[in-house]
Amino acid sequence: MQTKLATCTNCNRVCFIVSRKRAQEEVTVNNKFYLKCTDAMKAKMFPGGSSTVARYESCSCGNSYKKFRDFKKGDANNGDMLLPILDKKD
Ligand SMILES: [Zn+2]
Repeated sequence: MQTKLATCTNCNRVCFIVSRKRAQEEVTVNNKFYLKCTDAMKAKMFPGGSSTVARYESCSCGNSYKKFRDFKKGDANNGDMLLPILDKKD
């Protein structure tokens, strides 16, 4: 499957698009693992606590996934890691 990209209209960050179904599946898997971790592991690997689909709904700058636009050639991510963002149609 080809990875689809979208660009934040606020900070120009490039993210890859995931469907709401996919986000929900990832959250379920992550939280199953999270529940098995000791408190020390949780603090180290999940500083923000357990996973939620809401995390897929906004950019790291706080902009909503609804305000992302289609990725255009030339959009750059400044070497930042690509993060997932919900599909704005979901
Ligand atoms: Zn942003």
